[in-house]
Formats: sequence, C-alpha cells, structure tokens
Amino acid sequence: MAAARRGEQLDLPSFLGSGGAAVPPLLYADDMVLLATSAAGLQRQLNLLQQYCRQWGLTVNIDKTKLLLLSGRRTQHAAQQTAEAAGLTFAGQQLAAVTSFKYLSIAFHSSTCLAGAAAPARAQLARLAMHNCRTRCAEVGIEAAPVQLRLFGTMVDSVLSHGAEVWGVQLAAKAACCHRGSAGSAAEKLQLSYLRHLLGVRQSTPNAALLAETGERPLWQRWLRRAAKLWNKTLEERPGSLLQQALLSSVQLADGAHPLAQQSWAAQLAADLAAVGMQLDLQQPAPVDLGELGEAAQRRQLAQLQEALAKGGASRLEHYVHNVVGALNLAPAMFGQRETYLDAVRRRQDREALAQLRTGSHWGAEETGRWTRRPREQRVCPHCHDGIEDAPHMLLTCPLYAPLRLNFPDLFAEPHPPHRFLRQKPCRLAAFAAACHQRWLTATVALPAVPP
Ligand SMILES: [Zn+2]
Repeated sequence: MAAARRGEQLDLPSFLGSGGAAVPPLLYADDMVLLATSAAGLQRQLNLLQQYCRQWGLTVNIDKTKLLLLSGRRTQHAAQQTAEAAGLTFAGQQLAAVTSFKYLSIAFHSSTCLAGAAAPARAQLARLAMHNCRTRCAEVGIEAAPVQLRLFGTMVDSVLSHGAEVWGVQLAAKAACCHRGSAGSAAEKLQLSYLRHLLGVRQSTPNAALLAETGERPLWQRWLRRAAKLWNKTLEERPGSLLQQALLSSVQLADGAHPLAQQSWAAQLAADLAAVGMQLDLQQPAPVDLGELGEAAQRRQLAQLQEALAKGGASRLEHYVHNVVGALNLAPAMFGQRETYLDAVRRRQDREALAQLRTGSHWGAEETGRWTRRPREQRVCPHCHDGIEDAPHMLLTCPLYAPLRLNFPDLFAEPHPPHRFLRQKPCRLAAFAAACHQRWLTATVALPAVPP
C-alpha cells in the first residue's frame, strides 16, 4: 500500500463510493491474495512481494501460488489461456493459471458466479463429512433421531454452510421464491437426502414434509440468518474498516445502474429479505431483527407449501396436509419443531414404518402404483379390494389389519379422523405401523401374481 501511495502503478481494484479507496492485498495468517485490474499491475505487486521476502528472509511456496482471472462472461478455458499468456512470474518462475481456487475454504471460479462455484465445492466436502457421520453412527450404534440430527449440525452442516453468509445469499433468494422451497443446489440436496435417510423414506417425499417432520430449518433460512448476522456485525464495525468499506461498496453497486448491480451482496441480501416480506433500506442501513427474520422465514415456508398445494398434482403433499397435519392446523409453527415420535421411538424399524405412513412414502398400492403410472383410482387394495390402498385405509379400515387392531385397543378406543389418530401416543402408533408393515409383507407374498 505504501508503494501505491508513492504512486507506483499497482492497479489495485478500488471500492465503489467512499472516495474510491484502493482494495489492499488480503492477508490471513500465512495466506495472501494480491488483487489487480491488470496483469502489469499484478506483476509489480509480485515484484514488491519478492523484495519484501528477500529483505525479511521469507519464502513463498510457488507450487501453491496460483493465478486466477475473474473473467465474468468468458469461458473458463479462455480465462485460463489469457492468464497463462500474461506470463506472470515470481522470483523468475512462471506462475500457473487455474480456473478455480479456494481462498479460506471458499471456491472462486474464473467464469462462474460465487454461488455457482462455492456451493458444489462445499457439498462435495460435506458429502465426505456425511459419510463419516453415518459410518460413525453405525459403528457406535447411534439410531436415535435427535442425536443424528445434532450430529448433522455439527459434523455436516458446519462443513456444508461454511462461508454461506457470503456465497449463500443468491441461492437463498432463489429458494425463498421457489414453491418447492429449494433452489436445487447440491448443498440443499445433501441436507434433504440426509433427512430422507434418517426418516427411511423415498426420494420422492415432499421437502416440506421432511422439514416439518424433523423440525429442521431449510438451508436457505440458515444461510439468510448468517448473512443478516454478517450485515449486523459489519454495521457495528469501526467506520472505515475493510469490512465496512466492502459493505458500503456493495450497497453503492446495488444502487447504481451498473450491469452487475443485482450481483452485489447487499442487493442479494435485500432480495432475500424481500422474499420473506422484510424490507432492507440500503440507503439508511439498520440492523436486521433476527427474531423477526426467523418468524418471517417460517411464514414464507408455509406460503411455499400453500403455493405448491394450489398448483395441484402434489398428492403426497395433500395427504400430508389433510391426513397428518390437519388442514385447519396449517400454521408457521408446524415448521421448526421436531415431531415427538422422532424422540420417543427408539426402534428404527418402528420409527421408519410410522414416518413412511405419515409422509405417504409407504408400501401400499397408492404409492407403489405411481411407479407403473397406474391412475390413482386403480391403485386398489389387493387384500380387500375395497378402496384405494393409502395410509388411512391401511391404518383405519382395511380388514387385513383387523387382528392387529385388537392388540392396540388404546389406539382404537374411539373413532378418529387420520390426523387425530396420528396424534396419539407415538410409541404405540409406531409399533402398530411396524406390525402393519409385517402383516402386509406376509400377506403380499401369499397373493396370487397379478396379470400384467
Ligand atoms: Zn384393504
């Protein structure tokens, strides 16, 4: 920076606004990033670094030193070629150009946006963490759902969402606006797959049901909360700090007619908050109320579920709302709290049988008929031929399970609609669900083969 002040041409990028101050090289422990708007400026910075190292007896690991051209719209191949052709050197050795580089564990890419590069890279690492987590659980025999969810938070999500306050804002807005409640990123898919595995349900189970059952917040909400916390923290910084200059620059970019205005972090955070119905005034920055944000995000989650229902064709979701939650009980509070059976039921197969009936991902013809695209009205119970073989039929009316119901008189003391029936003692319900599954397996083997 002293050299820049002496007037040497280092071509440091500058912050928007705040008098266009230069962005200094970024130093973190023994990591260093030199930024320049031209190859010549970057070479001069490298020369200064070399002089400094010679003076203080320091060395730079050339093998780990890479050149990355943040090229915007160019292809990654063109970006790498351009960087390579600049022939930049350190201590006489040419530096290798790359198309992506990890800085503080966040992947930056020459031609892909931050979210596009960082989210898949985090998901790849988190997949390993998830594998380790599951292996460890299996080794020590952990089957309890609350422990597995806690382990996901500490072992997997800590890897998955690292740095998400920076790279996750764009994906959060996309997920908050979409009625599926997910932007479909690799990171979000990983969380949903962990929840499916935990519940023992199929790929096709609606995301809203997975999240409501486990009480887990979708990643977009976690990322949005982290970004809001970073916003708040930055506002508390001393005026003129690097972080605050970066934020003000981002606000300035969001405000202008610049082609990248919508890519600015502040603009994306404002878009996230707008998606949950909160306003962020970029002209007069004020802290975001995190409590209010949590409630607004849950209201948005409920609205997403309602949008998906209104679109039609979401029969598993309709089952979940009508037969499990109860249409009159639809409220933001249905998210964010784990269903009691996940804590109470210890036996995995009992818990899974109940989760499958609750989420509609079960063994009956209503579900298995989808695989052969059989119309719903034809997915009739093969055991009694009296009605569609869906969860209410199996639990409450099918004569196949009549002997079992006698073993659970407490559950059948009075007639209940399905959503009330499913609110009874979780351990008894789960034991009954598992017994039904067993009975079904035995009876299905004995059925004559269905002509195709
Ligand atoms: Zn039946």
